[in-house]
Amino acid sequence: MSTRLVIDAARCTGHGRCYAMAPDLLSDDEEGFVAQRGSDEVDVPAGLLGQADEAEQACPERAVRVLRSSAPSAGRSRPS
Ligand code: SF4
Repeated sequence: MSTRLVIDAARCTGHGRCYAMAPDLLSDDEEGFVAQRGSDEVDVPAGLLGQADEAEQACPERAVRVLRSSAPSAGRSRPS
């Protein structure tokens, strides 16, 4: 199972709660926004799942999403 964090740049208004709750995954930029907004997804190591969930719950703009995937993305077949 893999877990990733995604930050919606359009929703982020720079409250700073996400990187306060997940300092090992996220950081701030010079303007106080989360530096990883709008960038590629952030891989979440197993030991940091708690921080990822807390960051998602802390964002008042609902800009942080934790994506969990139990199946590998490559080679998956689609129903027709
Ligand atoms: S808590 Fe939400 S609004 Fe604030 S910096 Fe993080 S993503 Fe942006």
